Amino acid sequence: MITNGKFYLTTAIPYVNAAPHLGHALEFVQTDAIARYWKLRGREVRLVTGSDENSLKNVHAAEEKGISTGKLCGENAAAFKGMADAVGLSYTSFMRTSDRKGHWPGIEGLWKRISGRGDLYKKKYKGLYCVGCESFYEESELPDGVCPEHGKKLEEIEEENYFFKLSRYGKALEELIEKDEMLILPEARKNEVLGFIRGGLKDFSVSRSVSRAKGWGLPVPGDPSQIMYVWFDALGTYLTGIGYGTDEEEFGKFWPADVHVIGKGILRFHAVYWPAMLLSAGLPLPKRVFVHGYISVEGRKMSKSLGNIVDPMALVAKYGADPLRYCLLGGVPTFSDGDFSEKELVARNNNELVANLGNFAYRTQKLIEKFHGNAVPDAELDAEDGAQLAKIGEYAGRISAEMEKYELRRGLELLMELSSSFNKYLSDREPWKNEGKRAQTLYVSSRGLSALAILSGPFLPFTAEKMGRGLGMEKALWEDADKELLRPGAKLEAPQQLFKKIEEKR
Ligand SMILES: [Zn+2]
Repeated sequence: MITNGKFYLTTAIPYVNAAPHLGHALEFVQTDAIARYWKLRGREVRLVTGSDENSLKNVHAAEEKGISTGKLCGENAAAFKGMADAVGLSYTSFMRTSDRKGHWPGIEGLWKRISGRGDLYKKKYKGLYCVGCESFYEESELPDGVCPEHGKKLEEIEEENYFFKLSRYGKALEELIEKDEMLILPEARKNEVLGFIRGGLKDFSVSRSVSRAKGWGLPVPGDPSQIMYVWFDALGTYLTGIGYGTDEEEFGKFWPADVHVIGKGILRFHAVYWPAMLLSAGLPLPKRVFVHGYISVEGRKMSKSLGNIVDPMALVAKYGADPLRYCLLGGVPTFSDGDFSEKELVARNNNELVANLGNFAYRTQKLIEKFHGNAVPDAELDAEDGAQLAKIGEYAGRISAEMEKYELRRGLELLMELSSSFNKYLSDREPWKNEGKRAQTLYVSSRGLSALAILSGPFLPFTAEKMGRGLGMEKALWEDADKELLRPGAKLEAPQQLFKKIEEKR
């Protein structure tokens, strides 16, 4: 395959103190849609995900369960990996931060590099810490006296730690973000970051005492009394996941990242702390940070106490991965908070996937089977056929334009619009009774089908693969959508339903 350059993207590296929930699935699916789009554009893609294991909350969660931290992390990392596979996240590396061979050498190197720049110093410190966020807060940031993210009281900590000279990088960061050298999407999040930077940056602690860390995590090089702050090593996953410290050639080829996909709650870590650490280490900054919102369930925030945490694995088992992906990508605004309900998933599955794309695919293949022995017919085309075929190139271009702005939901809407226009064309022509234009109608429909099999790839990868197989298509790229991949005479597989109608419960 010819490659048109590279593309490197990441999900956030989730804490594995509990099992994955629907918010993680949203992020995985969004990241994957971007990855698959660029793969279809011929890029060589690396996608890093993983598990953030060196945190205090994992230590606490393990204590509560009465098992070792290692065991808890192992179990939950496996659950995250299982979920990533189930929703079709096409990762190239699943980096566990407990990986002493893959992760630790690079992080030790990063620490030494930043230390060598004179950006690390030790001082006594007293502050308010939220274990949920794994972050210190200023009193001014806590109007209600509790963590804005977790609503819980903070712990007062006093100890001697290493600090990173964040204050040194405020001006440089402000300029780089203003000029979109590191583009923050959406604009509102960019302004939020700029506001935070302009408020003045304070140095932040990048280690904790071995006793507070309970010995869990990466030791600070040359100082056995300290463990690295979990965010320091977790952010470094974006480097070690492509070989930093272990495979310099791979790293040199893929860094900087084209995009980090994150949730809004960890914006500051990714848009302030992380680029400052990279500037200190003399490494290029990621090109973009994509910030999605949070997902509520039937209008309420997911929480353990409300008992409404949705398990994405259960949804995949019940409905399949693509209906879930469709609902997350199409139902939740790409860059702001959104709501999820099973009722909506069922409605979208039935009214859009089944009635539009599924219906068009099945009818086309069924009619080609019935009237043309399952072979693509040959026919003269008229102006109306030409106009319908021209929509393929037009929509491929429009979907691309949205994907390049990271407007995933809009891209998916356009895909369904294209499908709907073919569905309507087929219905209007009535080839089942209108023999005169039958062959040309079914030829044009088969072209629509092969195009949809390619263009649906970023959003509905399992369906796209099934469609491609059913049409006997070779692997194709985005630009092939507009080509005659199925010549007249090409044999198709037996027609099959792409989606199942789901019984609606009341
Ligand atoms: Zn918190």
